[in-house]
Amino acid sequence: MSGKAGTETMFRFTCPACEMSPIVDAVIRADMLANGCYLCGTQVSESAFREVCEE
Ligand SMILES: [Zn+2]
Repeated sequence: MSGKAGTETMFRFTCPACEMSPIVDAVIRADMLANGCYLCGTQVSESAFREVCEE
């Protein structure tokens, strides 16, 4: 497989409040930074996300 541009960067989100740790894409990450955790609504910062390298 050749490296194809456009692979989405994924992030592991670790919520400090509900302790869920789903893998999310950049769109969901941006949404949660704006609106809070989509599971419990707690305000979260960029430090709650860690980039995931798949493969
Ligand atoms: Zn949460």
